[in-house]
Amino acid sequence: MKLTRTFATLALLTVSAGAFAQGKVCAVEIGGGDNMQFDKKEIAVAADCTEIEVTLKHTGKLPAQAMGHNWVLTKTADLTAAATDGMGAGFAADHVKPGDARVIAHTKIVGGGQTTSIKFPASKLKKGEAYSFFCSFPGHYSIMRGTFKFG
Ligand code: ZN
Repeated sequence: MKLTRTFATLALLTVSAGAFAQGKVCAVEIGGGDNMQFDKKEIAVAADCTEIEVTLKHTGKLPAQAMGHNWVLTKTADLTAAATDGMGAGFAADHVKPGDARVIAHTKIVGGGQTTSIKFPASKLKKGEAYSFFCSFPGHYSIMRGTFKFG
């Protein structure tokens, strides 16, 4: 009887520790094609997520140098400035200015048929803040953009 109770307590502890360490990873998928458009205008992530994983799939056929796409997240207020600096940062830097503090998360640039993903902690986000995602490939952000909601 005593042994059984000890075992049950241990099992319970193990489960709680596992749940704490892993947290809640929330996965989001978005596509972008040769038509220079994302297939989503809005991404919503629940406030109880501890980590966010974004997978970007280039659904087109054109190479990255001609019709590259990435997924960049900033506050909506920072979008235009971060996109403008990203344009000048060059293809090798995935068109994101190195060390840009306005960029909360970004994937690399992919071309037709390629997929990439990025994982970042939800602690980088504040509930109620206005966020936007966009593609920072030159000339794309005015069309390839959407709202990112947290909370
Ligand atoms: Zn693009």
